[in-house]
Amino acid sequence: MTLGELYEWGRRILRETGIEEAGTDARLLLESCCQVTYSTLLAHPDREIEKEQEEAYRTLIGKRSAHVPLAYLTGVQGFMGLDFCVNGDVLIPRQDTETLVEEVMKQLHDGFRILDLCTGSGCILLSLLHYSNGCTGVGSDISGAALEVARENAVRLGEPLARFVQSDLFEKIEGKYEIIVSNPPYIRTDVIGTLMEEVRLHEPLSALDGRADGLYFYRRIIPEAKKYLCGGGMLFLEIGYDQRESVTRLMEEAGYRDVTAVRDLAGLDRVVYGCFYGGENV
Ligand code: GLN
Repeated sequence: MTLGELYEWGRRILRETGIEEAGTDARLLLESCCQVTYSTLLAHPDREIEKEQEEAYRTLIGKRSAHVPLAYLTGVQGFMGLDFCVNGDVLIPRQDTETLVEEVMKQLHDGFRILDLCTGSGCILLSLLHYSNGCTGVGSDISGAALEVARENAVRLGEPLARFVQSDLFEKIEGKYEIIVSNPPYIRTDVIGTLMEEVRLHEPLSALDGRADGLYFYRRIIPEAKKYLCGGGMLFLEIGYDQRESVTRLMEEAGYRDVTAVRDLAGLDRVVYGCFYGGENV
């Protein structure tokens, strides 16, 4: 079979099974499995494909038609201009989360200590370290399998100043930080069933489920973070589009000052952050 025929076949199968971006997904899977670029596909559609590669492509198309997310099949997801390895043990980095990283970057100074709770693939912490000078970082996650992915990403991106700790939020965390950041699970349990099949069936539920009212992790993180922030340290949280008021209230009640909400590129509330002046300067 030729490259062009295989692509057309993949696109048709994905379209028939209701995959929205059928053409793009069929092409990206072909690129990843046959090690070809988009321009090769355009310029040499009649190039013959080896039987083994054809089989591998057919398997990937089968999985994508079963709504396995594209990033789990290619094994990579772009985020903040960097490539992160992903697998089913971690949430796929979202473009919305770039808003969180960008807000932290505005407050980041050389040499800051950063703590990233629920780090997953490590995409938040590793992007911050990549785009700053001399900062150090700890990423924590309750999932050991997720931390393996984060560590692999740290090695691939050449970030030796990132350290990863298996910990239920602050359980195993020591020391003081200028910045604490988190994209915790925040979807209400009753909403999980309404999410896209890709998310609902294939992404780790433990990275999404924020319990009955979606606020479980904020209620734990917000008061406890104060013990780990140095004077003037800041807490940055990703939130769901309808959680600005509740999370702002939790921050203000806990004594954070200048609590601010930021919208993502879609215009939805996505980040809340605030400053804690009560911490000791160590
Ligand atoms: N934004 C993610 C989603 O919509 C949820 C991420 C989270 O719960 N932290 O699937």
